[in-house]
Amino acid sequence: MSPSPSSSAPVDAGEIARRMLSARAEQFTESVIREMTRLAMKHNAVNLSQGFPDFAAPAEIKEAARQAIADDINQYAITWGAKPLRDAVVAKFERTQGVRYDPEREITVCCGSTEAMMAVMMAIINPGDEVVVFEPFYENYGPDAILSGATPRFVKLRTPDWSFDEKELAAAFGPKTKAIILNTPNNPTGKVFTRAELEFIRDLCVRWNVFCVSDEIYEHILYDGAEHVSMAQIEGMRDRTIVINGLSKTYSVTGWRVGWALAPPAATNSIRKVHDFLTVGAAAPLQQAGAIALQFPQAYYDKLAVTYAAKRERLVKILEGAGFTVFKPRGAYYIMTDISAFGYPDDVSFGKYLVEKIGVAVVPGSSFYRIAADGAKQVRFTFCKKEETLAAAAERLAKLRP
Ligand code: GLN
Repeated sequence: MSPSPSSSAPVDAGEIARRMLSARAEQFTESVIREMTRLAMKHNAVNLSQGFPDFAAPAEIKEAARQAIADDINQYAITWGAKPLRDAVVAKFERTQGVRYDPEREITVCCGSTEAMMAVMMAIINPGDEVVVFEPFYENYGPDAILSGATPRFVKLRTPDWSFDEKELAAAFGPKTKAIILNTPNNPTGKVFTRAELEFIRDLCVRWNVFCVSDEIYEHILYDGAEHVSMAQIEGMRDRTIVINGLSKTYSVTGWRVGWALAPPAATNSIRKVHDFLTVGAAAPLQQAGAIALQFPQAYYDKLAVTYAAKRERLVKILEGAGFTVFKPRGAYYIMTDISAFGYPDDVSFGKYLVEKIGVAVVPGSSFYRIAADGAKQVRFTFCKKEETLAAAAERLAKLRP
């Protein structure tokens, strides 16, 4: 006899997962990066996992935000972005990359580059489309592909310099390819793609008539003379590139959630529609403050890079001293390491040991790979932290013996 329905009848969790939830959402797990921050708080560990600064944002940008609220910029901005911010993004991009965009027809401001990426994917992908993704990859790109209906085709970046095999990349493109997702400077590897590499990718994009979705959020965090070249400035790519960027990393305001996508008019039309129905718009006063930050003089960006270069040196030394094999980044603020020396079965058990027993939180390498085994010997550290935080990490990691 089947039980009679009643409001107090227990609902079977398995049944909910099988029949009542989206199959898409069942295909991925929660973000390991964000989970590690929660674990760091739970175990009172030094958090070198999630990439957010633990130091103050520039005084000018904070003052601009306070002023914007006082000036009553407190209602919805235009859905695709407040005009002063759109103008400032376009002017800065032309100044730094030499490529002009139309602020009226070629930019969409979103709630962080995370939303910009998702809106772009939903705007360009049809079921069955493939996207080429370099691996290891920033973990969001996996769920971005699943939620938009794209099938990812992974191409390996190989240690120690994170180079790719041209034949492997060429073989990943085909008639079903819709886009390649590029992230330079790269999270998690710190690779900065060279002009020659971008030109090789360009040739494939042109040959197969596909977009390059170029996540350039770490554009100003560069070391050892590395230069950031936007795919949009590579000849023939202006109208095939969708540039993703935001305030988070350049101005140390990851919690503000202001990002954008630059794209040719037809693509922008589509991105704006998706964005509008996803979120309507990013926080209006913070867009206003962003417009002011984007006008900071070059000295601001030079200082940012110099400050991070010193933090990179500091953490490289700490990690090498503790027995890690370090892949020194040329950009962004992460260090991928090899943990073979410690003899742990995998990155997850080592990460658990680090956060619970040593008191330092990292991101297990497998979060950046489709197949967990490929990242089983790696963990990622971030160094966008105060000297006190790095010093505390050094003290704790000294207890670690390979
Ligand atoms: N980009 C940062 C990282 O990789 C933070 C990502 C996030 O949590 N939104 O750690």
